Amino acid sequence: MTGPLDSFGRSINYLRISVTDRCNLRCIYCIPPEGVPQMPHSAILSYEEIQTIVRASAELGINKVRLTGGEPLVRAELPKLVRMLSQIEGIEELSLTTNGVFLKKYALELKQAGLSRTNVSLDTLKPDKFRYITRLGELKTVLEGIEAAKEAGFEPVKINTVVMRGINEDEVLDFARMTRENGWHVRFIELMPFKGVAEFVPSIELQQHISLLGKLEPCPDSIGISGNGPAIYYRLTGAKGTIGFINPITETSFCSRCNRMRLTPDGKLRPCLLREDEIDLKMPLRNNASIEVLKSLIVKAVASKPQHHHLKGGNIRLVNRKMSQIGG
Ligand code: SAM
Repeated sequence: MTGPLDSFGRSINYLRISVTDRCNLRCIYCIPPEGVPQMPHSAILSYEEIQTIVRASAELGINKVRLTGGEPLVRAELPKLVRMLSQIEGIEELSLTTNGVFLKKYALELKQAGLSRTNVSLDTLKPDKFRYITRLGELKTVLEGIEAAKEAGFEPVKINTVVMRGINEDEVLDFARMTRENGWHVRFIELMPFKGVAEFVPSIELQQHISLLGKLEPCPDSIGISGNGPAIYYRLTGAKGTIGFINPITETSFCSRCNRMRLTPDGKLRPCLLREDEIDLKMPLRNNASIEVLKSLIVKAVASKPQHHHLKGGNIRLVNRKMSQIGG
């Protein structure tokens, strides 16, 4: 295991970087219809600044980086950043989380630039509902994006599905069937109550429902699907793809397995998604701080990681930023 240890003995080897607060969709549980006030360009870290932070992180043993947003592919020349980061010594995995709308355009370029993996967020397989949930998007573009990613050589492409009571819970079996019919790797995520637009559905309920299709067999880590992430994986008997569950609300040990920190578009290190605490890296960077100073700030952020978030027991804790401004 690599990565600095936090105060609870967890090894923090994973940095999620939100490269922009802008998004081309307006998912009902993530962003208000009018969007959020945009950060000025000057407030957002440059690619060179992100590169320096990743270099400092890698020197501390952080070996996995994921680019997210907002929508990372709306930031100009993202493949250029991928190329810059993939060449940093010590970074073993560089991945992307995207809504998939621009994947058809960029998948091959991203692969050639050194991207290791991509996840695609997709909450419905029905065109009308897709437009309802995302307010702006077209399902077809995302499905084409998923295919383009596979053709470019990304394997596995994981599909992230946030399940909302009364909105898309009726499609859970359709997604599960895609693991058999199309070899998809689907991960169901419990909705975190940022906006109160919908109610989450406990994963245990989804598992019971999916077992109507057949036995859900636990998947050993050895098949290389887990990537040290928060999901617990299963497979329907005979399916090529897998079904993962990400249970931030109902799993009591969820935070004990946390291995990550987040970097916001404006250069704040956020030790926990659901806590307000942030450590600024932008100002020191712009004042020419040395790599050693940056490393000490990163270690400080790791040390300040809380033991757990406060979502358990229906405790709705609103955070100062929207998900799109933190990087989900
Ligand atoms: N635009 C990119 C995308 O769609 O994947 C990256 C940013 S998005 C904020 C990252 C992930 O966070 C998506 O899978 C999205 O579904 C998830 N997400 C956003 N709000 C959430 C919430 N309240 N609860 C759970 N997941 C959420």
